[in-house]
Amino acid sequence: MLAHLRNISKLALPRRLVTQSASYSSSSSFLIDQPEYSFLKELGLERDNPGVYSGQWQGRGPSVTSYDPGTGRPIATVRQGNVQELEQTIGLAVEAYKQWRQVPAPVRGEIVRQIGDELRKYKEPLGKLVSLEVGKIYSEGQGEVQEFIDICDYAVGLSRIYSGQLINSERADHSILEAWRPLGVVGVISAYNFPNAVFGWNAAIALTTGNSVLWKGAPSTPLVSVATTKIVADVLRRNHLPPVVTLCQGGTDVGQTLVADKRVNLVSFTGSCQTGRDVGVEVQRRFGKVILELGGNNALIIDESANVKMALDAALFGCIGTSGQRCTTTRRIIVHEKLHDQFVKALVGKYKQLIPKIGHQLEAQTLVGPVHTQQNVENYKAAIAEAKSLGGAVAFGGNVIQRDGFYVEPTVITGLPHDASVVHRETFAPIVYILKAKNVDQAIEWNNEVEQGLSSAIFTENIGQAFKWIGAKGSDCGIVNINTTTNGAEIGGAFGGEKATGGGRESGSDAWKQYCKRATITVNHSGELACAQGVVFNVE
Ligand code: NAD
Repeated sequence: MLAHLRNISKLALPRRLVTQSASYSSSSSFLIDQPEYSFLKELGLERDNPGVYSGQWQGRGPSVTSYDPGTGRPIATVRQGNVQELEQTIGLAVEAYKQWRQVPAPVRGEIVRQIGDELRKYKEPLGKLVSLEVGKIYSEGQGEVQEFIDICDYAVGLSRIYSGQLINSERADHSILEAWRPLGVVGVISAYNFPNAVFGWNAAIALTTGNSVLWKGAPSTPLVSVATTKIVADVLRRNHLPPVVTLCQGGTDVGQTLVADKRVNLVSFTGSCQTGRDVGVEVQRRFGKVILELGGNNALIIDESANVKMALDAALFGCIGTSGQRCTTTRRIIVHEKLHDQFVKALVGKYKQLIPKIGHQLEAQTLVGPVHTQQNVENYKAAIAEAKSLGGAVAFGGNVIQRDGFYVEPTVITGLPHDASVVHRETFAPIVYILKAKNVDQAIEWNNEVEQGLSSAIFTENIGQAFKWIGAKGSDCGIVNINTTTNGAEIGGAFGGEKATGGGRESGSDAWKQYCKRATITVNHSGELACAQGVVFNVE
């Protein structure tokens, strides 16, 4: 394998891209059998798909049907893995790691480059599948695959430059080195709302730093998991590599087994705070490493000096993008009291303009697609009922839209206390609570008083307020933006949040260090043994 990797060729499979847009017939059969959905077959998907990959495809666990949230119609089925298959897959991932760690990092980077290239070829159909299965609109599905491509580019560069350091020693003719080594098997458990990119952020960096990757995607987005793994597996096969990327689709039992298995050196978990807390405790119990990327309750602050036009646009995308189902979605807008009424009126005006743009996620004019499942609809209804019972006023929306699929009206609620229970909870739906604050200090206090600490943003033209916001007395979140949205991060920075968001960081900056173990190496080149701190300990 190593000899082969020294002569990596730039192979590419000439598979046709599908670019036609979908139209929808009324048949109740599986969408994959409809000619309009031929892009699914271009991705190698079939009516019934094995959901476990460990060099070969299999799946002996329960079968799940994947549904289009925009119509409620079945797309195709996936045979998930069972616990026994997961355990076998972990064993294979360990063996693959033992070979992969010997491959020079820049050569590993070359494999990641090929994965990025392959994703470029499949961006259109894969992005459409992301849209179809999650419910996010066409451009967001394409954007999600683009994030995976971007992190591959980042990782290729990283493969040639990530490094340790040489530290001064207090002892004469001694040197202290710091080196970063792979951990082993990185288990990735991902949420439904970013079924492709979350795997991509983890896999590109974990592979580059010498780990093998075992993925369990969300049970309701299994087709994205299978299609993405097929693309990656093709690159591995062409390069005669062992399965350094494996997949075991499954439910809670598979997730829990993965989390508890000591052979999985790092668990990178993306999901709700509730599940993430259990995962964190379980991994810590066995002294494994964990990256937790959990829920957010993100605030947008509008200072009295704000550029209101820009802030309104930020609020619109922040609150309604992905139908309110991003971890970084704007859930609270805290507006200076002088601007509050005019801001609410203008935002409601913008919401009204979106009504004709609510529709199926793959239709060209749609800006607001469905939410993912009936459970999201139920959570939406419960949050609105609670908000009303607590004295909130619905300034816009508040209703379930009666049509096939899972559609709700984007909703604006005013008049609630800043610390109302419903305001402090993350409801994964397009609901925003608008709060009226006296000044930026109070707004920062309210920003920080929730359990989660993922994303936050201020709109201000006042340099003093801006620097207060990013300083020690400012936002306590992992993402602290100025004059832009709370959502839609780029891959170059480290992504993640504090407090109940879990403290993990993924993607750019030095997040790669989390996928490594650090070795501190003291080298004595003096010819004599000397203890640190001047300790004398010898016998003649
Ligand atoms: P979820 O917690 O229900 O599920 C996430 C994953 O965990 C799924 O794959 C699920 O099968 C698995 N799982 C469930 N129980 C488990 C257990 N006991 N042990 C191991 N795995 C288990 O989350 P969801 O509804 O799919 O996603 C929405 C949530 O994810 C929101 O809270 C959102 O904010 C969060 N999220 C966070 C980020 C981030 O980067 N911070 C990104 C995306 C989503």
